[in-house]
Amino acid sequence: MIYLDYASTTPVNQEVLKAYTYVLEKYYANTDSLHDAGLKVAELMEQSREQTASCLKVKANELMFTSGASEANNTAIKGSAFALQHRGKHLITSCVEHSSVDQTMKQLQELFGFEVTYLPVNSSGVVEAETLRQALRKDTILVSIMALNNEVGSINDIAELAKVTHESSRAVFHSDCTQILGKQPLTFLPDIELASFSAHKIYGLKGSGLLYHKQNVRLVPLICGGQQEAGLRGGTSNAPCNIAWAKTMRIAFEKMDEHSRHVSELNQRLRLGLAEIDGVEINSPQDATPYILNFSVKGMTSEVMLNALNHYGICVSSRSTCSSKTKAPSRVLMAMGISEERATHSLRISLSHLSKKSEVDELLNVLKEIFNDYRIK
Ligand code: PMP
Repeated sequence: MIYLDYASTTPVNQEVLKAYTYVLEKYYANTDSLHDAGLKVAELMEQSREQTASCLKVKANELMFTSGASEANNTAIKGSAFALQHRGKHLITSCVEHSSVDQTMKQLQELFGFEVTYLPVNSSGVVEAETLRQALRKDTILVSIMALNNEVGSINDIAELAKVTHESSRAVFHSDCTQILGKQPLTFLPDIELASFSAHKIYGLKGSGLLYHKQNVRLVPLICGGQQEAGLRGGTSNAPCNIAWAKTMRIAFEKMDEHSRHVSELNQRLRLGLAEIDGVEINSPQDATPYILNFSVKGMTSEVMLNALNHYGICVSSRSTCSSKTKAPSRVLMAMGISEERATHSLRISLSHLSKKSEVDELLNVLKEIFNDYRIK
């Protein structure tokens, strides 16, 4: 099998897995129990929170463990919308967000009477600061814009967008940072109030996420219950998962530059190879992350290409995995001004430091073979 779908999920790192199973077996007590066994596991979990926070250069009490980025996005958006609605009910997001942001915004609009402005993106898939400035209002309470797009890899200037937000409004700024974590430094984190992360995109565990919430940012809890996570998320803590975060985060930051250089070379190789194939059009902008490359092929739908590649044991995606069962063309590509036809013929290749030149070459060879076969028929 050749796996080129790392933006969907990654294989778990062996060190993370070892830490997880060790804690799962040995430290099974409840973190809220008052006996020594409970106190010990609570201590390990708080150590993990400290170490994770120090990698992100934030404070430990600004991190909340969640079940993934979807939950973190829901909590950030609904939690702050509910907490701040006395100041206004206007929310701003972009039209290329992950479904866990997009659907949350729609729910707030349809069921809770909030008004949502969906900002357009330019042809590179990026929200322009001026577009945001014009949309901000006195009653805007929250802006949510992703750092790195999961379908095309475009990168927003979050520091600039947050600056514009804070200059012209009292709104809090949230960013879905799921895809940027481990790919480049998060220098903008001190400039924003809320950020979401997921462990399984960076060789950690599935069902494990983080919400960064700056001190003094008010959130209404979505899961009421016990006192866990400072009263923001009820329910017995998933201590083994939360303890594994420390290793996951450390690994993500450890060799970031080296990994990025390797992936950039592979991306270049892939772009050059695709340029030689008739009818291929690249959808990712030139300055996108090297980890994601989206392209379209004239005359072949995503479904046909996906199935054909799968037949050769090559795993790729046509778009965001959370929307993979939708038949409609990608709303991200359409928002970038790409035609409906081209959008229904798109594929997303996502690379990793684990990817090899030989895998990229094999993908290119198989693509050429598929296109020749298909076009001859
Ligand atoms: N946001 C983005 C940009 C994503 O790519 C994903 C994963 N597809 C998520 C949020 C959801 O993450 P999780 O699977 O941890 O809920």
